Amino acid sequence: MADVVLKAVEKVFGSERVVKSIDLSVNQGEFFSLLGPSGCGKTTTLRMIAGLETPTSGDLLIRGERMNDVPINRRPTNLVFQKLALFPHLDVFDNIAFGLKLKGLPRPEIARRVDDMLDVVSLAGFERRRVTELSGGQQQRVAIARALVNAPAVLLLDEPLGALDLKLQLRLQRELKRIQRSTGTTFIYVTHNQAEALTLSDRLAVMNEGRVEQIGSPADMYLHSATSFVASFIGRTNLIAGEATFAGGEARVTDGALSVVLDDADAPADNGRTVLSLRPERIVIAPKTPMANGIDATVAEVEFLGATVLYRMRIADGRILFVQALADTPPLAEGTAVRLGWGKDAAVSIRSTTV
Ligand code: ADP
Ligand code: MG
Repeated sequence: MADVVLKAVEKVFGSERVVKSIDLSVNQGEFFSLLGPSGCGKTTTLRMIAGLETPTSGDLLIRGERMNDVPINRRPTNLVFQKLALFPHLDVFDNIAFGLKLKGLPRPEIARRVDDMLDVVSLAGFERRRVTELSGGQQQRVAIARALVNAPAVLLLDEPLGALDLKLQLRLQRELKRIQRSTGTTFIYVTHNQAEALTLSDRLAVMNEGRVEQIGSPADMYLHSATSFVASFIGRTNLIAGEATFAGGEARVTDGALSVVLDDADAPADNGRTVLSLRPERIVIAPKTPMANGIDATVAEVEFLGATVLYRMRIADGRILFVQALADTPPLAEGTAVRLGWGKDAAVSIRSTTV
């Protein structure tokens, strides 16, 4: 069942169309992310779902009910921001209990619910701590507990880990995923961090300039990017654009010094300009057996990443190819001449070439 549906939703501020006819459907119990560069309209989209902004046009449905004009406190949603608005003069328990007290729930009921939430966010024993005496990660967990304690159908999170250091971000990512799974709450998570979106999401929508470019699972996005924007935003890739030709049962796309032979299944449907995405880890340095594609190159730049090495390889027409190899031998030196190869199935064609 779909929990949140957006149909042709638009938001215009003054003369600027900030969100352009978005269609989305988020399933119940799903961890769904909105991923895109700063300014692409993620927060505005989330604020419309929360009830902090009204769509200019289109339909917003939550659990089957049209919500365009329903006020924030009558929606089954709750919101967690990067800048958390905890009450500094209250302790952990009272911060989490705040909304339940406003609702006038009986004390034992409040105590039970807050205790449950303290367990969920691994803060049992911290109930009488002032929130100002907690670390950034612990404060963020209090904010999440406070947002979850009234059991919203949908939790909306806007870059909630953005202010934390990288190590803490990684730990809290796993924590968030565990909380989402154990409560079964639908999460809609806004981030500009592609690694974070890939790690956390069941499915995600990649946004660019107010539009949704693609919706799918992390693997689907990476392996079958629908647009060149998605292919380069999710991970790193080599984009190859050229005329596709067919001869002798083979499809070929030529772009400058590069000429790529393709698997039939991945070949574009007709002759014409095609864009291919060739992932850096699919290119083999000095292949031991002949491969369908090959080109000579020179190592232009070496980036040692620990488990892998990312090379910028210069080819005959002066362009750079990204090549990523396992760091199982010492990295090649700059200036080394190498032969590169890749199989017929390595480059995949991009269905739409919207940039
Ligand atoms: P993101 O969260 O992806 O960084 P936002 O949704 O915050 O993007 O903003 C998208 C665009 O909308 C930006 O160009 C921003 O300046 C503009 N914008 C956001 N809120 C308002 C507002 N209240 N009034 C006018 N412009 C706004
Ligand atoms: Mg934002």
